[in-house]
Amino acid sequence: KEKRIATPSMTKHYLNQFGFHFKKSLGQNFLIDVNVLENISKKAGVTKETGVIEIGPGMGALTEQLAIDAKNVLAFEIDQRLEPILAETLEDYDNVKVVFEDILSADIEPIINDYFGKKQPLKLVANLPYYVTTPIIMKVLMNHLPLESMTVMIQKEVAERMSAKPNTKSYGSLSLAVQYYTEAAVLFIVPKTVFMPQPNVDSAILHLAFRESPPVDVIDETYFFDLIQATFQQRRKTLRNNLTRHFKGSLTKDVIESLAESIHLDLTRRAESLTMKEFADLANILYTAQQ
Ligand code: SAM
Repeated sequence: KEKRIATPSMTKHYLNQFGFHFKKSLGQNFLIDVNVLENISKKAGVTKETGVIEIGPGMGALTEQLAIDAKNVLAFEIDQRLEPILAETLEDYDNVKVVFEDILSADIEPIINDYFGKKQPLKLVANLPYYVTTPIIMKVLMNHLPLESMTVMIQKEVAERMSAKPNTKSYGSLSLAVQYYTEAAVLFIVPKTVFMPQPNVDSAILHLAFRESPPVDVIDETYFFDLIQATFQQRRKTLRNNLTRHFKGSLTKDVIESLAESIHLDLTRRAESLTMKEFADLANILYTAQQ
């Protein structure tokens, strides 16, 4: 194909041809820069052996790049109005399937297994709708889908929070949740100018490589994540303060103090200074005391 979808002129052409109007409520900002697309696909490590899952193909800008680079592509799109457009923009590629479903309510795993079979290495690559970035990423993480990695374009601030290390402004419960399942890194920043229409925020490409097993041993994952949430509830306050509030009526201040002491944890510290290992030790000792 001589003309790529992801150019300003081709995008405008398809918009006009199909009388398509962007829905802001669906986070529709389409990519109009082939260099950015090539870079995303390359950095995601997509090869002719890779099966790729895409969320939100839009008009097919990234889908086309993935169809060129990958073995095959399965895309989930919520907006039925894009069906006739994608049928035309992707007509030359026989290794792409688009499923018109909301990724948040779709039962993803059987659809994936049905399309790819079980043996193929799978990666998720997407330019995500910004209004639901975190729910989508958390769904993929919690569902334990058979993926090697996720490479996603998201809002820059969210990418920074997901990949943040302790003692930084962006570090919080989201960083810990994401990094429990994956190794997270921001690959590059993308300017607003490569989208149509331009979003109000800067974007970044976040790479999440799934771990074989969690980096810390946790007795009860729900308890661990609830505890993390609770200690970050009032970010500027000490662990002692947040823990006392959280365990009011179930653990006394003194018990919390002596349990913390037994793992050499200073409760005058703030949650933002704790490593994941320290959170795991704290959760495990508190959990055990409550059984
Ligand atoms: N991939 C295209 C590109 O890069 O030009 C479009 C990306 S656009 C930022 C996000 C896409 O996600 C839109 O096509 C939108 O309709 C779709 N979308 C929004 N919410 C969705 C959901 N819950 N499930 C599946 N797709 C969704």
